[in-house]
Amino acid sequence: MDLAYTEEEEEFRARLREWLAAVLPRLPAKPGPDDWPGRRAYDTAWQRMLYDAGYAGLHWPVDAGGRGATPTQHLIFLEETERAGAPYVGANFVGLLHAGPTIAAEGTAEQRARWLPPVLRGDEIWCQGFSEPGAGSDLAALRTRAVRDGDHYVVSGSKIWTSHAEVADWCELLVRTDPAAPKHRGISWLAMEMDAPGVTVRPLRTLAGSTEFAEMFLDEVRVPVSHRVGAENDGWRVTMVTLSFERGTAFVGEVVACRRTLAALAAEARRGGRWDDPVLRRRLGRLNAEFRALWRLTQWNVSEAQGTGGVPGTGGSVFKLRYSHARQELYEAAAEVLGADSADLDREWVLDRLSSLSYTIAAGTSQIQRNLVAERILGLPKGR
Ligand SMILES: Cc1cc2nc3c(=O)[nH]c(=O)nc-3n(C[C@H](O)[C@H](O)[C@H](O)COP(=O)(O)OP(=O)(O)OC[C@H]3O[C@@H](n4cnc5c(N)ncnc54)[C@H](O)[C@@H]3O)c2cc1C
Repeated sequence: MDLAYTEEEEEFRARLREWLAAVLPRLPAKPGPDDWPGRRAYDTAWQRMLYDAGYAGLHWPVDAGGRGATPTQHLIFLEETERAGAPYVGANFVGLLHAGPTIAAEGTAEQRARWLPPVLRGDEIWCQGFSEPGAGSDLAALRTRAVRDGDHYVVSGSKIWTSHAEVADWCELLVRTDPAAPKHRGISWLAMEMDAPGVTVRPLRTLAGSTEFAEMFLDEVRVPVSHRVGAENDGWRVTMVTLSFERGTAFVGEVVACRRTLAALAAEARRGGRWDDPVLRRRLGRLNAEFRALWRLTQWNVSEAQGTGGVPGTGGSVFKLRYSHARQELYEAAAEVLGADSADLDREWVLDRLSSLSYTIAAGTSQIQRNLVAERILGLPKGR
């Protein structure tokens, strides 16, 4: 893999920088952290600006409405948007980073035409209805039932930890379509409209005080059979595609943001007279090396994924495992630098620190990533 940039890539970077400099000052003020309708409007407005300028779905395949850009152009896009302080995907997280890419990889031509353009334009946002009270790490134990009734499924059950459920239009939903089959074989992947009769969303509050996720109750919700992605009972295979995007590529833009936060932290340490402390300097230096290595790993993963039609491999688990811990270490270091201020809940860093605790749980816990790395990369025997 060649890590140097070509002349064409540098030109792409220059054009993007110019565009960012012109449009970012026109963005409205960012809404408060718990104003979800406001955040949806802000995030989708940004997505629309990207779409109009030709930057939406940059690395998505052309037949999925994307621009078919190279992995390197995609990484340049992430670097430059982050460097310029542009908004990240926000409420568009699921649609742009894992439901959309799954539909691009596994959906029919009609499904791609129906669901992908509105995601790219910022017209519709998605949430993820995978976890249930009794099915998190052991996701295949899910019990939400879908019973066939003509050309519909009738879905009943409950989901939990559904991020952005309150403001989402669609849900990537896992259901059990064959209760008699072995647990991994009786699952299907459906696209469910969030305003369908029978869907009830009840917000949950996180440690950081945010209502970013919710419980979702499904009472005989009718979902057209044509909204199933992949074959009936083949949903576990489709789920693996979704999870590989979620773990492998969905967080990569955040690595750039962490490098910026680290630089800000070093500046704060200098201002506050902590820079003379060699232990702190070593800690920040080690984190800097860690995030640089994670960015290189990202480049490698993204470039490897080109060989599998853009679907990331198990390398995503290595990334997710290491990134989630590095993010927590970054915010622990921030608490040390901020001292007494680290308890001030009005500071963005404090909220980020609290939310960093969820990173080793969301998208599959660290223990589960270790199991995957042990079994699929190191070839160790299964522990169960
Ligand atoms: C911020 C956040 C956002 C989320 N958003 C969504 C969302 O939008 N949609 C969605 O569907 N889900 C979402 N989740 C849920 C997330 O995917 C689950 O929390 C996660 O998969 C763990 O499942 P669980 O909470 O049921 O924990 P459990 O599976 O009950 O695990 C409890 C503990 O046991 C350990 N453990 C379990 N099995 C094993 C094993 N085989 N080997 C070793 N250790 C094991 C786990 O690592 C963990 O420490 C979100 C979670 C968070 C924190």
